[in-house]
Amino acid sequence: MNESSRIFVAGGTGMVGSAIIRKLISQGFRTICSNYNRKEPADLQDTPVRYVRLDLTRQSDAERFFEEERPEYVFLAAAKVGGILANNTYPAEFIYTNLMIQNNVIHSSFVSGVKKLLFLGSSCIYPKLCPQPMKEEYLLTGPLEPTNEPYAVAKIAGIKMCQSYNRQYGTNYISVMPTNLYGQNDNFDPDTSHVLPGLIRKFHDSKRTSEPVVLWGTGSPLREFLHVDDLAAAVLFLMNHYDRSEIINVGAGVEVSIRDLAGIVGKIVGYEGEIKWDATRPDGMPRKLMDGGRLTALGWSPRIGLEEGIGMVYRWFCGHVPV
Ligand code: GDP
Repeated sequence: MNESSRIFVAGGTGMVGSAIIRKLISQGFRTICSNYNRKEPADLQDTPVRYVRLDLTRQSDAERFFEEERPEYVFLAAAKVGGILANNTYPAEFIYTNLMIQNNVIHSSFVSGVKKLLFLGSSCIYPKLCPQPMKEEYLLTGPLEPTNEPYAVAKIAGIKMCQSYNRQYGTNYISVMPTNLYGQNDNFDPDTSHVLPGLIRKFHDSKRTSEPVVLWGTGSPLREFLHVDDLAAAVLFLMNHYDRSEIINVGAGVEVSIRDLAGIVGKIVGYEGEIKWDATRPDGMPRKLMDGGRLTALGWSPRIGLEEGIGMVYRWFCGHVPV
């Protein structure tokens, strides 16, 4: 990529897409186009990005867009995502929407001659009882975690689609698997969010109402969290330096139990009240730690520590999310 390359960031108002756009702008890229579906961009005045409203689940709309726009580089960050409850409650929406978006974007990229595409997957593609830390070669070696299997199957299909196009057509489509992400522009809804934004929302609200915080499961699962600005840096690095069909992990290298995470978030938010654990809610995977060795061997590592990152997100939350 160079500064005048035509770049398309699919899903530009989501947490990941917006972080990729910030990073591209900070590195001097100026011909950036992005799409959004429901969530409009916050700042249309002052941005070098051209945003279009485009529902990527619609095949003919996606095809027309690629024909007209002819992007050279595509970051596929458009996806339907959510936490354990949302995945468990809306499995049909998760499998349908993700398959449609990625099929349309990957195939239209091929038809319109995109030079390179980067597909974003997820750590939930690995088996439920995967040896830890999870290496790239453990993909498809065992049954998936049932709470997010439909989402994981869609993401695995995206990986196989990239690999198949590379094999049959000689394309350069890479697949990047980030660990659990957090950052600004996340979903902070207490029911549908992932655990970290969910905890920020719940602690913040309980500080005002003095109601106890109710968290899910046992608190014993272990998770690894990466700030989305670190992910965006990794993604640009990989777009510039990685040209292989094999998937590549982006990890943070540190894991924390949900109970300890609650302690950290409580301290940052300033909540000192009671925490109740609702054990009727699922725990999901017992442990989900990425092996990020392949990426560190290429020369990239994350910079933002967990407490520092949660502090950044909480300050952003207080300034942007309505109470
Ligand atoms: P997962 O990583 O796919 O399991 O998805 P989540 O980020 O939604 O959940 C991670 C873990 O945090 C699970 O064990 C949840 O049961 C637990 N958890 C505890 N409290 C909450 C909460 O308020 N929201 C969410 N999303 N998860 C919670």
